[in-house]
Amino acid sequence: MSDRFRFVIVGGGIAGMEMATYLGNTLGRSGQAEVTLIDSSFFHVWKPMLHEFAAGTSPNDRNRVSFLAQASRKSFKYWPGVLDGVDRAARQVELAPMEDERGNVLLDRRSLSYDALIVSIGSRANDFGLPGITEHCHFIDNLTEADAFNTRFRSLVLQAIGQSGTLQIAIVGGGATGVELAAELHRALDLAANYGAGMNRADLHVTLLEAGPRILPAFPEAVSEDSRRQLEALGITVHTSAQVTGADADGFLLGDGTRIDARLKVWAAGVKAPAATTLFEGLERSRSGQLVVRPTLQTTRDDRIFALGDCSFIAEKPVPATAQAARQQARHLSRQMKGWIGGGAIAPFHYRDRGAVVSLGDYNGWGTLGKYHFGGGPLRGLPARLGHDMLYRQHQMEIHGPARALAAWGADQLDEFVRPIVRLD
Ligand SMILES: Cc1cc2nc3c(=O)[nH]c(=O)nc-3n(C[C@H](O)[C@H](O)[C@H](O)COP(=O)(O)OP(=O)(O)OC[C@H]3O[C@@H](n4cnc5c(N)ncnc54)[C@H](O)[C@@H]3O)c2cc1C
Repeated sequence: MSDRFRFVIVGGGIAGMEMATYLGNTLGRSGQAEVTLIDSSFFHVWKPMLHEFAAGTSPNDRNRVSFLAQASRKSFKYWPGVLDGVDRAARQVELAPMEDERGNVLLDRRSLSYDALIVSIGSRANDFGLPGITEHCHFIDNLTEADAFNTRFRSLVLQAIGQSGTLQIAIVGGGATGVELAAELHRALDLAANYGAGMNRADLHVTLLEAGPRILPAFPEAVSEDSRRQLEALGITVHTSAQVTGADADGFLLGDGTRIDARLKVWAAGVKAPAATTLFEGLERSRSGQLVVRPTLQTTRDDRIFALGDCSFIAEKPVPATAQAARQQARHLSRQMKGWIGGGAIAPFHYRDRGAVVSLGDYNGWGTLGKYHFGGGPLRGLPARLGHDMLYRQHQMEIHGPARALAAWGADQLDEFVRPIVRLD
C-alpha cells in the first residue's frame, strides 16, 4: 500500500475537476500525494452550457473533456462510479457496481480508502415531490438529460414540420436555466431556418412558468423586466406567480385550476443536493440536503471531509449555488492543501461577488457586477454575453492551461465556420 497522502475527490464537475487538476499537477506530480477523482460520468462538462446542448446549439462532443485523458495529463487517477457508501470510521468510500445499457455488469462494487475526502457532487433541480413531475418532465441537470431532451426536441420539431403543426413546450423555473433554455430553443429554430429547415419561430410556442412575482429573482428588478420584454418579443409566454401543482402527459396543472398544455415539459426550478449526501451519516445537512461546512470548507463534524460547490452550505455566510462560487472554492481549497497535509491550518474561504450574467442566446444578455467592482449596475447586450463566455474560458484555462485553452477557443471558432451551428440531423 502507498504511504502517500490519499486525496479522494467525489464529483468531477466545475469544482471537482479544477481541484483534481491542480492537486494532481502539484502534489500528485511531485509524488507527495495520490489524487483520485471519482465521477459517475466518463466526461466532464461545463454545466452552464447544458441548455445549449439541450437545444442543439453547441456540440457537446467538442465541449466535453474525457476524465481518463485529463487524469493521465494531470497526474491523478480517475475512477468511474457512483458514490454508494461512506464509512467515516474506516475512512473508506464505496462505489456502486456499474452496468452497461443492457444491464451487464461492467465494474463490480468497489471501495477506496482516503486520508481526505473532497465532496463536490453538485446539485439538482427540486421537484418538491409534486405529482407527475419525475414521470412527465425532462430535467437538464447533466449531459445525459440534456442529450435526452435534445433527441426528443428534434423528433418533435421534425414531426411538427411534417404535419405543418406547432410545437408547445413549457418550462418551469424562471431562474437563469429556464430563461436561457427558452431563448436557446428559439435560437435553435432561427439557426435551423437559415439552413432552409421548414419550421420557424412562429411554430414554436414556449411558455415559461415562475412561482415568484418576477423572473430572474437573483438579478435587479430592471433586468427581470428587460429580459421578460425580450422573451415576449421572441414570442415566449411568461407567467409569473404561477404555482405549478403537478404534471401529466399533456401539460402542467396550476394552483388556480388552469392548465398549460405542452408536448415537451421541462422542470428547471429549485435546487437540492443529490441524494448521495444522505450517505454521510452523522454529518450536518442543510434544509436542501447540502453538507454543512465551516469557512475552511471542512464539514462541521469531520475535519477530513470537505465539501464545496453546490452540494455544500457555509452556515456562517452562505454563498450562491453558481459556477463562480464553485470555482472560487476549488481555487481556494486546492491552494491550502499542501500546507494542511504538512500540519498547517486552512485559511477561511471568503466569497468575492464578481457579479452574475445571464445570456439570451444571440438576442441579448445582462450582467451585474459585484459591489466591489465599478459600483454595480446592469450591463447590457454584447458585454454580458461575452462575460458569460469568459467564465467558461477561464475554467478551460484552469484545467487545460493557457496554450490548450487558447487552442480550444480557436478550434471552436473554426468549428463554427465549417459546421452548421445547430444540430440538424
Ligand atoms: C442549464 C444550467 C445553466 C446554468 N447557468 C449558469 C450560469 O450561467 N452561471 C452560473 O454561475 N451558474 C450556472 N449554472 C449553475 C452551475 O452550473 C453550478 O452552480 C455549478 O456547476 C456547480 O458546480 P459543482 O462543481 O458544485 O457541481 P457540478 O458542476 O454540477 O458537478 C457535479 C459532478 O458530480 C458528479 N456526481 C454527482 N453525483 C455523483 C455521485 N453520487 N457519484 C459520483 N459522481 C457524482 C456529476 O457527474 C458531476 O460531474 C447553471 C446550471 C444549469 C443546470
